[in-house]
Amino acid sequence: MEIRLSRNFVLSEFTRSTTAAKLGIPNTPTPEDIARLKQLCTKTLQPIRDAWGSALNVTSGFRGFRLNKAVGGSDTGVHPLGWAADIVPANGKIKEFKAFVKFLLKKGHIPFDQCIDEKDGKHEWVHLGYANRKGLQRKQFLTKHR
Ligand SMILES: [Zn+2]
Repeated sequence: MEIRLSRNFVLSEFTRSTTAAKLGIPNTPTPEDIARLKQLCTKTLQPIRDAWGSALNVTSGFRGFRLNKAVGGSDTGVHPLGWAADIVPANGKIKEFKAFVKFLLKKGHIPFDQCIDEKDGKHEWVHLGYANRKGLQRKQFLTKHR
């Protein structure tokens, strides 16, 4: 049974992980994690999706603590809490999407903690965090290119 998080986002998009499947690591969110994923979706991702006007893909969303360690995720990040997702536009226009998200979030109407322009080799995505582990929304724009 699919759980809808907001109009255009469902839970399975946030929990699927090729690494988890390969290593046999369970990646099952608790009800609290799902509540946080709903906040992330309804408050931050859905408004961005609506403004962008076409589909967004989640490349990594919820990562339980074991999975987060296995993929080398940040120890202080909020993927393990369900408050962050790595997003790409389904139409492949990542450069335009990165610029669009920055422009949109700088207007100040959409709540968020961190917007990180990420790049690893030829993979690019936007990390969007709803709040940090203390529940703060610092409105940070960062760049992490490897
Ligand atoms: Zn991320």
